[in-house]
Amino acid sequence: MNQILRPVARDSVLKIDPYVPGKSSAPGVDRIFKLSSNESPLGPSKKAVTAFASVAGKLEDYPEGSARRLREAIGKRYGLDPDRLVCGCGSDDLLHLLATAYVGEGDEGIFTTHGFLVYEIAIRAAGGTPVIVPETDLTADVDAILAAVTPRTKIVFIANPNNPTGTYVNMAEIKRLQANLPPNVLLVLDAAYAEYVRRNDYTAGIEMVSTCENVVMTRTFSKIHGLANLRLGWAFAPSHVCDALHRIRGPFNVNGPAMEAGIAAIEDTEHVTFAADHNEKWLGWLTEGVSKLGLKATPSVANFLLVHFPDEPGRTAVDADAFLTRRGLIVRNVASYKLPQCLRMTVGTEEANRLLLGALTDFVGGRARA
Ligand SMILES: *Cc1c(COP(=O)(O)O)cnc(C)c1O
Repeated sequence: MNQILRPVARDSVLKIDPYVPGKSSAPGVDRIFKLSSNESPLGPSKKAVTAFASVAGKLEDYPEGSARRLREAIGKRYGLDPDRLVCGCGSDDLLHLLATAYVGEGDEGIFTTHGFLVYEIAIRAAGGTPVIVPETDLTADVDAILAAVTPRTKIVFIANPNNPTGTYVNMAEIKRLQANLPPNVLLVLDAAYAEYVRRNDYTAGIEMVSTCENVVMTRTFSKIHGLANLRLGWAFAPSHVCDALHRIRGPFNVNGPAMEAGIAAIEDTEHVTFAADHNEKWLGWLTEGVSKLGLKATPSVANFLLVHFPDEPGRTAVDADAFLTRRGLIVRNVASYKLPQCLRMTVGTEEANRLLLGALTDFVGGRARA
C-alpha cells in the first residue's frame, strides 16, 4: 500500500496554478517605474491617507465587523442600500467568497479565455470545475458563454472591463447575457476598472443588480482610489446573496485603517475625477504612440494597455520585457493569461509614460540601449 503519511490537500486545490503577481523590481536599476499591476500613478486621496493615519493609535481594537460606516459612505455615493453591500479584504476576497458560497464539487464555473486569473483559482478552491470559454477579438462573447452553460453551471465571472485585455462588453450584451442565463446561475460582474470607463454604452451593473436576483457587481479601492496596499473591495448584491456572503466571510475581513481610508476616498470625488482625467489623456496618448510604432495595441477602456509584439527573434514580447526592465520600466508579462506575445502596460505618471514610449521607440528601432 502506498499510503501517504501526511495531510494531503484536496485534489482541486493541488490543481491550482498559484497566482504570480506582476514583478516589482529591476535588478541593478536605480529608478524604477512600476507599470505592472495597474496601480494608480497618482496615489490615493490625501484625505484617505490622513484618515488612515488617524487610526494608528487604536490598533489594539477590533474593527466594526460589518464595515457599516464604509457601506453607508459607498451607499451615499452611489445611491445604494447599505444593507445590500458587502465589503471585503480586496475584491479578491469577495470573488472567493462568491465561489465558495455557490460552487461545490461537481459544479461548473464559467469565465473566458483571457479572463482574470483569480476566477479559476476561486472556482477550483471551492471544488468546482472551471469552464473556459473562447473570446472574440479578445472580448468576452455572450453567445459563447451561453453555449457553455450546462445544468451544472453555478456561476459566471466576467471582468468588465477585462484585465488584461482592456476590452469591455456593452450594456445591451450584458443584459442579453443575464436574460438568457438560467435564473439559478449567478452572474458576477467584476467592475474593478469601472471608474475609468468613458463610454455611453457601458454599465458597471448597478441597475442590473437592483432588478435581478442573480447578478452581483464587485468593485475595488485598489485601482482608481490608489489603495491597493490596504486590500479593500465591495460587492453590491441581492439580499439573499449578501446573506450568504455574511455567513462565510471572515468576521473582521475589513480592517479599521482600510475602512477609514475607504470612507475618505469614496467621498473625495475630485480625486477620482482627477485620476480618471489623467488616465483618459495618457491612455489615448500611449495608444496612439504605440500604434504609430507599428505595434498593435488592443483598444482599452481601463488604466492599462495590451501591446502585441511580433513573433520574430529579438522583437518578441519577452525581448521587449527585458529591454524595458533594463530601463527600469516594469510591465506585465501576460503569458499566464494565454497572451505570450503581449505585454500589459499600466498608464503611469507623465514621466513614466514618456519614458515608456521612448523606450518602445528605441526597441522597435533596434537601438539596444540609448
Ligand atoms: C485588480 C483587479 C481586481 C481588484 O482586486 P483587489 O483584490 O480588489 O485588489 C479585481 N478584478 C480584476 C479584474 C482586477 O484586475
